[in-house]
Amino acid sequence: MALRTIRIQGDEILEKKCREVTEVTPKIATLIEDMLDTMYEACGVGLAAPQVGILKRIVVIDIGDGPIVMINPRIISADGEQTGSEGCLSLPGKAGQVTRPNHVIARAFDEEMNEFEIEGTELLARAICHELDHLDGHMYTELVEGDIYDVNYDEEDE
Ligand code: ZN
Repeated sequence: MALRTIRIQGDEILEKKCREVTEVTPKIATLIEDMLDTMYEACGVGLAAPQVGILKRIVVIDIGDGPIVMINPRIISADGEQTGSEGCLSLPGKAGQVTRPNHVIARAFDEEMNEFEIEGTELLARAICHELDHLDGHMYTELVEGDIYDVNYDEEDE
């Protein structure tokens, strides 16, 4: 198990666009394992590669149903709407109200570079949208309606 340092908002790497992955090299396989370890250690539901300083289009998500690894992900369909509290491991202890699609279908490649489709509603749809935004240098704070507030660590935090 190897933990990586999570970059905090203000770090310019979080504002950059990530490059596509062409091949899952041993180095990338290790990166993905480390991203999962880092996400679980931080009690997050998702983590994108730029959050650990790597500008590659890779995200990991686990909303409690097991790990999802998405390489070169893209949203192919989004509909509905949900407004709720959203946080980010790159802005610890904070959250804000963000409106997202309530249902998304995305396509991505797995660790064997096989393409797959994933459908998510509610929290999974939110997590997919949030993590994919990181790959283009965007943070949820750009979308917050109202104030960004402190969250109590006893409550659920992303
Ligand atoms: Zn985030």
